[in-house]
Amino acid sequence: MRDVIKEFMLVGCEVIENEPLSSHTTFRIGGYADFFVKPFDREMFCFCVRELKKRKIPFFILGRGSNTLFSDQGFRGIVISTEQLNDFSFDGETVFAETGVSLTKLAVEALKHSLSGFEELFGIPGTIGGALRMNSGAFGREIGDLVEKVELFDGENRIWLSKEKLCFRYRKSLIAEQNLLVLSAYFKLKHSQIEIIKEKMRNYMRIRIEKQPLNYPSAGSVFRRPANNIYVGKLVEDLKLKGLKHGDAMISDKHGGFIVNTGNAKAEDVIFLINFIKKKVFESYGLELETEIEIVEDSIPQFMEAQQS
Ligand SMILES: Cc1cc2nc3c(=O)[nH]c(=O)nc-3n(C[C@H](O)[C@H](O)[C@H](O)COP(=O)(O)OP(=O)(O)OC[C@H]3O[C@@H](n4cnc5c(N)ncnc54)[C@H](O)[C@@H]3O)c2cc1C
Repeated sequence: MRDVIKEFMLVGCEVIENEPLSSHTTFRIGGYADFFVKPFDREMFCFCVRELKKRKIPFFILGRGSNTLFSDQGFRGIVISTEQLNDFSFDGETVFAETGVSLTKLAVEALKHSLSGFEELFGIPGTIGGALRMNSGAFGREIGDLVEKVELFDGENRIWLSKEKLCFRYRKSLIAEQNLLVLSAYFKLKHSQIEIIKEKMRNYMRIRIEKQPLNYPSAGSVFRRPANNIYVGKLVEDLKLKGLKHGDAMISDKHGGFIVNTGNAKAEDVIFLINFIKKKVFESYGLELETEIEIVEDSIPQFMEAQQS
C-alpha cells in the first residue's frame, strides 16, 4: 500500500496517514483509515482509483460522510475524499458542479442567481456525488429531477450519461447499482424571484429544525421509507422505542427514524439499535425495513468487490 501512496504524493495528492474517520462523518463515529487521500482534481481522482483497482487495494469514496457509518475498527485501506473536487459554475439556467460540492452550498449559490430547483434539498448535509448515488431528496423533490447529465468514472473510462440512462427512482440509481463514481454533473434550474426562492428555503429549513434532531450527530434517516407511504418514524413511535439507548447511541426522542450519537457512541451501538428496530418492526408489522445508511466494515472482501467491480 505504501508504494501506491508514494506515487499519489509524487503527483501532488494530499495524503494523511491514520486519519480518524469520526472527523469525516456527521455521525462522528469511526476508527482510523490507514490512509486518507484528497485528490485535487478529477483526473487525479481517476488516477487514484485506477491504481488502487489495479493493485487490488481496498478503497472507499467519501463525500461529506452524512450517510455513512464506519466501523469502530476503522478502514484497512484507503479512503478517497472528494472534498477538493468542489468547482461549480452557472450559465443561464444551467449549473455545473463537481462531485464534492455540497448540496447546501449549491442551493445558496442558486438562490444568488435567482434560480429555483434546489430549495427542497437545502439543508441535506451531503455532496452532489453522494446525493446522486442514492438520489437524495426531500419534500417531494429528488436530485434526479434536476439533473441533465452526469460525468462518471467506471474504473477505466470517463463517460457522460443523461438523466434518462441513470434510472433515478426513490433513493436508487444506476450509479449505485453499477458502482459508478460521480465526477461532475450538469443541472437544469428555472429562473424565479429571489424572494420566493428564499422563502421556500427558509420554510423547508424551519421544518427540518422542527422535526429533526439536528442538535445531535447523526446520519439522517436510518431506513428507507417502505412502500404505501408508511413512515418508519411513526412505526418506531407507536412501538414506544423513541429515546431507547444502547451505549451512547439513541433512537431519537424527536424523530423515530433517526439514531443519534449522544456523546461517544460506537458503530456497534448504532448497529445494535438498527437491528433492534428491524426486529421489533418485523415482529409487530411483518415489515422488513431496509437500511438507508451505508455501513462500512473495516476491510471486508465484499466491500472491495462492491467498490471495485
Ligand atoms: C441531519 C441529516 C439530514 C439528512 N436529510 C436527508 C434528506 O432530507 N434526504 C436525503 O436523501 N438524505 C438526507 N440525509 C442523508 C445524506 O445527507 C444524503 O444521503 C447525502 O446525499 C449523502 O451525501 P454524502 O456526500 O454525505 O455521502 P457519503 O456519506 O460520503 O457517501 C454515501 C455513499 O455515497 C458514495 N459516494 C460518495 N461520493 C461518491 C461519488 N463521487 N461517486 C460515487 N459514490 C459516491 C459513498 O461511497 C457511499 O457509498 C441527511 C443526513 C443528515 C445527517
